[in-house]
Amino acid sequence: MSTATAQRRSAQPRLLMPILDRAACAGMSTRMFFPVPGRGHEAEERHAADVERAQAVCARCPQVLACLGWALRHREHGVWGGTTDEQRDALRTAGWGDELMSDARGAWR
Ligand code: SF4
Repeated sequence: MSTATAQRRSAQPRLLMPILDRAACAGMSTRMFFPVPGRGHEAEERHAADVERAQAVCARCPQVLACLGWALRHREHGVWGGTTDEQRDALRTAGWGDELMSDARGAWR
């Protein structure tokens, strides 16, 4: 891990604290939110199940919009704000990225 990456990761919890304090995922293992795709049917099923479980947690999270905005702005990987990397790419492509980041900014600025 580069120094810049390590510094960025260590800074995130502080910056995200207003979100994480009230998040549905607070105190949970982060593993399901960063599912690792694998090869083969079993690995694909495990990946899909992890994504589904993470999205179910996000679906009841009061911070979902702030979290989504953060992930769009910082190009995070994994399940954030109930979306996968691919779904956030689709939001950006559809032109929703700026609006969602703008809506969410007040929550974590
Ligand atoms: S939206 Fe999901 S990943 Fe984001 S804070 Fe809430 S539960 Fe955690």
